[in-house]
Amino acid sequence: MTIWFVTVFPEMISAYLSESMFKKAVDNDLVTFHVWDLRDFTQDKHRQVDDKPFGGGAGMVMKPEPFFQAHDRLEELQGDKPFKVICPSPQGKLLTHQGAVDLANGDDIVFFCGHYKGIDERVMENLVDEEISIGDYVLTGGELPALVIADTIIRHIPGVLNSYESAESDSFADDLLEGPIYTQPREYRNLQVPDILLSGNHGKIDEWRYQQRLARTKERRKELLKAKTGKNDVGGKNG
Ligand code: SAM
Repeated sequence: MTIWFVTVFPEMISAYLSESMFKKAVDNDLVTFHVWDLRDFTQDKHRQVDDKPFGGGAGMVMKPEPFFQAHDRLEELQGDKPFKVICPSPQGKLLTHQGAVDLANGDDIVFFCGHYKGIDERVMENLVDEEISIGDYVLTGGELPALVIADTIIRHIPGVLNSYESAESDSFADDLLEGPIYTQPREYRNLQVPDILLSGNHGKIDEWRYQQRLARTKERRKELLKAKTGKNDVGGKNG
């Protein structure tokens, strides 16, 4: 998969891509990232990417021309290879686990990162395939949400995580939250690890973990449990 970020702050993106799982994905040739500076697609000497809104009002709007120019370049580069343009936006569809899985199994991706008041509507209507929100709040720019979306996508590309099995027991993978997890030491400041995890009985451990997941989901995200089982009350430590 190839992922582009089209942004006025390329260094914000590059810094993140050079660490941890993003770096591993690149080093192992699993994902290719390109970070494009939107200002490289301007034609004027001030490399202007924003202007005042038509009709008046506060704030600046990102101009259409640089995005159209960048899109032309992407079409040239990709030829017949399809790509999906995503604009992170608080007005978009809420990002979910399943949405990330679908994107990971789909076409190459281009993020158009907005700033200020947002991007001229002609870009949104004619170039953007999907608007995705990372939550019901407003950030100052599209770089962090683009990275959040990319991060959750690449986890689902085989080989990026050391253990995909581990991702499959993470929260949301089967519509439940993950339960409590413990590591060494067995006892710390008189705080103990539950005995069952030390029992060596893997059947019982699996059952305990499942009950913990149900209980935690019921306690924290009842609506997930209802969607999964059709019931509000399903076993678990809280009944
Ligand atoms: N005027 C816009 C509105 O009210 O919907 C908000 C613009 S926001 C200040 C600037 C940029 O940040 C947006 O164009 C978008 O790229 C990004 N952004 C802000 N909040 C976001 C969110 N919750 N999810 C995804 N992107 C977001």
